Amino acid sequence: MKYFDLHCDTVYECSEKGKELLKNDLQISLKGGENFESWVQTFAFWIPDVLRGEDAYRQFLKEYAFLSRALEQEKQLHLYTPGAPMAPGHCYAIPSVEGGAALGGVLSRVEELHQKGVRMMTLTWNGDNEIAGGIYGSSGLTPFGEQVVAEMERLHMAVDVSHLNDQSFWAVEKKLGRPFAASHSNARSICSHPRNLTDDMIRAIIERKGLIGINFYVDFLSDSKEAGFEDILRHMEHILDLGGEDVLAIGSDYDGATLPDCINCVKKIEKLYEVMVQYFGEKLTGRILYDNAQAFYRQYVF
Ligand SMILES: [Zn+2]
Repeated sequence: MKYFDLHCDTVYECSEKGKELLKNDLQISLKGGENFESWVQTFAFWIPDVLRGEDAYRQFLKEYAFLSRALEQEKQLHLYTPGAPMAPGHCYAIPSVEGGAALGGVLSRVEELHQKGVRMMTLTWNGDNEIAGGIYGSSGLTPFGEQVVAEMERLHMAVDVSHLNDQSFWAVEKKLGRPFAASHSNARSICSHPRNLTDDMIRAIIERKGLIGINFYVDFLSDSKEAGFEDILRHMEHILDLGGEDVLAIGSDYDGATLPDCINCVKKIEKLYEVMVQYFGEKLTGRILYDNAQAFYRQYVF
């Protein structure tokens, strides 16, 4: 099976805790995906909300240095290049940034990040930053944020609206000409958490031919504090019912969240694949787990 994941926090966990990507006790290790036929993994450099200005930029550099070193050292880890041949069992990385605070408020750093290989940026984490407001912030898209979004469009860096508050989401949607992604967010009408997308937001992403990555975090899957495969399928089915068969993808949130036992490490994606094939059939499962994300990156990013 093929697996394309739009979000994980494994690089932050590894670089903070001194762990290796190849083999570790985290939810993602390179060993964990050895059975995949093809594996593209977006590795986010997470910027905690306590860091702003140059401290936030330095945090980005630290995580970037970790991934760069891993790319040099690990034979089975490569940078993802769409269209290039891919070895089975190897991991093809797309660097991303979770929290536009990484820019430290400096516009020219969007281009610097792009040069360093960053192909997607989540504009905020949960709080406010120089760009916009997260779900627990009160700000909307700022004048600096408008410049950042325009610069990302110019460079074809994917804008990721996960974590934005509703006001900022709609301001970004209005500003952007290109398709955009919610890399790790579910459907709010299925689970009421504000990190999830309303039906209008889902429709807007579908209309713009973007991407929505299903998040495995228990709190975003179910209001009951317990979740399993049936909840993952329910969110998927709802987005499909709204017309999302071209935008639906996976944004696991591995190493950034509390996950149901049935899907709490990358190896268990093989089980999700089986469950999904039974429910959706092989073709649609392939689109959700891989093809939709690949098409988005080939068309709009690389
Ligand atoms: Zn997140």
